[in-house]
Amino acid sequence: MNGERQTMNYDDTNIFAKILRGELPSHRVYEDEAVIAFMDVMPQGTGHTLVVPKAGSRNLLDADPATLGPLFAAVRKIAQAVKKAFAADGVVVMQFNEPASGQTVFHLHVHVIPRFDGVPLKPHTGAMEKPEVLAANADKIRQALAG
Ligand code: AMP
Repeated sequence: MNGERQTMNYDDTNIFAKILRGELPSHRVYEDEAVIAFMDVMPQGTGHTLVVPKAGSRNLLDADPATLGPLFAAVRKIAQAVKKAFAADGVVVMQFNEPASGQTVFHLHVHVIPRFDGVPLKPHTGAMEKPEVLAANADKIRQALAG
């Protein structure tokens, strides 16, 4: 009952809406008419990137289906880029809906995380990464996207 109401309640004061409006900084790697992508500040692995649609919704449950095609086209592009940028063995794509699932920022986003054989993921929303490391990793992804 309460969950139903929550999914309808998008609040544009969330962190990603502020990043989209340029009110907060990010290590941005990609932008098109529908999405932006930037480095997760608490990465679960090297190169952990977030792909965020410009259209506001709390998560997948209340998203306009029209946003999903462009969003996942960008997710694919970023997945290919991070795999190349970090010579990863694989890429995991994750997306959380509501606090019970692990969602902590309530603007739809997709996690794209390079994976390496034998290297476990770090905890979700664990330690903050150093800005210089995020900047260097963002550079690698931009180069992979350009190449
Ligand atoms: P979720 O739990 O799926 O809502 O994921 C939110 C993600 O956003 C987490 O992985 C956080 O590490 C990440 N995050 C929180 N604040 C910021 C920020 N200012 N810039 C980039 N990533 C952030």
